[in-house]
Amino acid sequence: MKVTFFSTKPYDRDFFDRFNRSFGFELEYFETHLGPHIVNAVDGATAICAFVNDKLNAEVLRVLAGKGVRYIALRSAGFNNVDLDAAKKHGFRICRVPAYSPEAVAEHALAMIQTLNRKTHKAYNRVREHNFALNGLMGFNIHGKTIGIMGTGNIGRAFARIMRGFGCTLIAYDVQESEELKAFGVQYLPLNEVFAQSDVLSLHVPLLESTRHMVNADTLKHMKPGVMIINTSRGGLIDSPAVLEGLRSKHIGYLGIDVYEQEDKLFFRDLSHTIIDDDTIQLLMSFPNVLVTGHQAFFTAEALEEIAVTTLQNLSRLQQGLEPENPAAIVV
Ligand code: NAD
Repeated sequence: MKVTFFSTKPYDRDFFDRFNRSFGFELEYFETHLGPHIVNAVDGATAICAFVNDKLNAEVLRVLAGKGVRYIALRSAGFNNVDLDAAKKHGFRICRVPAYSPEAVAEHALAMIQTLNRKTHKAYNRVREHNFALNGLMGFNIHGKTIGIMGTGNIGRAFARIMRGFGCTLIAYDVQESEELKAFGVQYLPLNEVFAQSDVLSLHVPLLESTRHMVNADTLKHMKPGVMIINTSRGGLIDSPAVLEGLRSKHIGYLGIDVYEQEDKLFFRDLSHTIIDDDTIQLLMSFPNVLVTGHQAFFTAEALEEIAVTTLQNLSRLQQGLEPENPAAIVV
């Protein structure tokens, strides 16, 4: 079976080539993201393998169906980039990697919290210039603070397990409560209460119509002055202009984002010789209390191995007319 990949980087190829030895698929790699501009290049593939910023809209799916593609393997957990109605209409089977090392993302959320808090990025630059002064580097103890977890699925639960070790108060909001978290003292509260009580708010819900812009001008009003907001989930959870305003007014004390609503034009590429035509991200990056990383929370060796193996297993089972071993891997 031929599988055509989009949005691939050298590290994707390394991992997929290595683990494909035991599957024997024909793998074709495109570096560009999938969209109407490239979809006609698909030739002879039964499956497509796509990543977070590939656009699987109705137009792209129609062309793929016409070319005989039957399976779409998302090498991500999120599937907000797929038009599910169009996918069902064309009879695609779509699989994903529901939980590839949730710890990778949860640990990155913690890295963002502690970088913003203890300013290690600034200390690193200072001491290289032999500036050992501490002015401006003061942080706060995580111990005793209230951490709000929005979404307690695989990643939110991994994050809760980590934060538990700091001795903080853990509160959470999810449409489905986790017995595991309740057993070690996580308190589920209504959405606005989590906003109101959190010193640090970490977003781990998927991007859905019900969660889009959950951090907006209205919800910001409920939050504590000085709140730290961490988003390692999807950019669309945050209304960026409202957050910019919150930073300007100092209502938001710190912002850490690994994802950005307009990231598809920026992330996963080297734009160091280009003028960035996005005033919002430029402004965000100009704040000393904002940390932006380029969708790297998942990026550990363990996670890349898990992504490659699960994606190839999913495709192998679909090809044999079987369901993926993990039912959560099926999108449609
Ligand atoms: P998951 O499906 O295990 O958990 C999502 C949780 O959100 C579930 O418990 C669900 O009940 C809850 N939820 C759904 N709708 C909700 C709503 N309206 N309000 C409150 N809670 C709601 O997903 P996960 O593996 O924990 O991943 C979470 C998200 O993290 C993914 O959707 C993806 O967007 C993002 N992610 C980011 C990276 C990265 O590199 N930055 C990597 C992997 C995943």
